[in-house]
Amino acid sequence: MSDRIPVMIPWLGEAEAQAAADAVRSGWVAQGPRVAEFERAFAERVGAEHGIAVSSCTTALHLALIALGLGPGDEVVVPSLSFIATANAVRYLGAEPVFADVELATGNLTPATVAAVRTPRTRAVLLVHQGGVPADVAAMREACADWGVALVEDAACAIGSTVGGTSVGHGATLAAWSFHPRKVVTTGEGGMVTTDDAEWAARLRRLREHGMNASAAQRHASGKPILESYLEVGYNYRMTDIQAAVGLVQLGKLDAMLERRRELAARYRELLDGVPGLTPVDDPAHGQGNFQSFWVLLSEPYPLGRDALLEALSEAGVSARRGIMAAHLEPAYAGHPAAPLPVTERISRDSLILPLFHTMTEQQQDRVVAVVRERGGASATGARAAAGRGAAG
Ligand SMILES: *Cc1c(COP(=O)(O)O)cnc(C)c1O
Repeated sequence: MSDRIPVMIPWLGEAEAQAAADAVRSGWVAQGPRVAEFERAFAERVGAEHGIAVSSCTTALHLALIALGLGPGDEVVVPSLSFIATANAVRYLGAEPVFADVELATGNLTPATVAAVRTPRTRAVLLVHQGGVPADVAAMREACADWGVALVEDAACAIGSTVGGTSVGHGATLAAWSFHPRKVVTTGEGGMVTTDDAEWAARLRRLREHGMNASAAQRHASGKPILESYLEVGYNYRMTDIQAAVGLVQLGKLDAMLERRRELAARYRELLDGVPGLTPVDDPAHGQGNFQSFWVLLSEPYPLGRDALLEALSEAGVSARRGIMAAHLEPAYAGHPAAPLPVTERISRDSLILPLFHTMTEQQQDRVVAVVRERGGASATGARAAAGRGAAG
């Protein structure tokens, strides 16, 4: 169907194409000056001292956990309700991801759900801001400080989300970010670690580049030969200058993206208001989300199950997606110990993500809403919403 509504498309345009072309024409396509500029701009935007650009959020998480010195025998509390990379990053170090449940309203860990699975071997908590809904960072920082446990933030989805009036990432020990096209800001593939710690930043810069004490860019810029040395076993987790060039343009559009996403999310909530058994995601009391993923949770008396509604949407030319996955239910974690995770399983089973993207039109959104309302036994448009449109002309 040509007028099929996608669940998400990145907002890319001529400016990104031009920036990528400029990087190519400059002759410097690997990690170089544009990566350095993107790191500075990104760190400033989220209120961190240092940004270390890498190839993905998965590699960012890997490096962040290396900085903490984790290894076999250590436990890291993670939500099962997350993209699987969150748990996998812990396994890369030979440490053990311990799945904790989440709260129903936000899909995020809380001090109480972490406390339920914490043991004397817990070394860190990996706090995800799920779908861009900010977790209660202040409460979790306080709890982790009490426990003497490190706190790393998986902010893959959370660029532009705020907690207590400041950006997610501000004041974070270590935060990891994603620039995959399913996220709000994209570089194709890409990621970033942010931190206020200069020593960690220096080490992570080395680790992303084979453990070298001098980057290729530094050696190139230097007038005289620099004989590099390899201080520890590192990785090739670099971002390219072509990606960073795109990222810089995207970052400049972030405020416009956030405004439009929040507008569309508010409109969804208004139009879906009063459908029995349907709860749309909303801002928590402690912050504001970027609505990277606009999910709705189904329950009695909504007449359709999640998969049936996905099918109905698909038949109507709407691409929706199942809600956030639960890692502990996947074959990769079969046999892995997991405490009961009732809220995780409920959200994962009963939620779906509706289309929301920068260039989405109100007509497109109305089409999505009509299917969800009609299948839910409500009239195609809500009384309040119809009244609102009438008043608007
Ligand atoms: C997307 C995502 C990741 C992985 O990001 P990549 O950049 O694709 O590696 C990790 N954690 C969460 C919570 C995500 O949503």
